[in-house]
Amino acid sequence: MARFLVLLAIVWLAWVAWRGWQRKRMSSAAKNPSRATPSATRLVVPCAYCRLHVPTEEALHHGRHAFCCQDHRQRFQENQGKRDQ
Ligand SMILES: [Zn+2]
Repeated sequence: MARFLVLLAIVWLAWVAWRGWQRKRMSSAAKNPSRATPSATRLVVPCAYCRLHVPTEEALHHGRHAFCCQDHRQRFQENQGKRDQ
């Protein structure tokens, strides 16, 4: 009977350790996507209108210019239109 209890305790400990390891693995996997692409997040481009630096994938592109928001893209285009006339 004592042997059975020891075996039960070992199984229980192994299960608890496995669960803890799984949880740790899951939480680190959840954090990894941002860590997996550090070069992509580091690439920033300045907004052609306000010079604010925004990540390339978040910036709005128009020709060779990048913008932080649609409003600035519109304003930049309006300014360019005035300059061209
Ligand atoms: Zn801007």
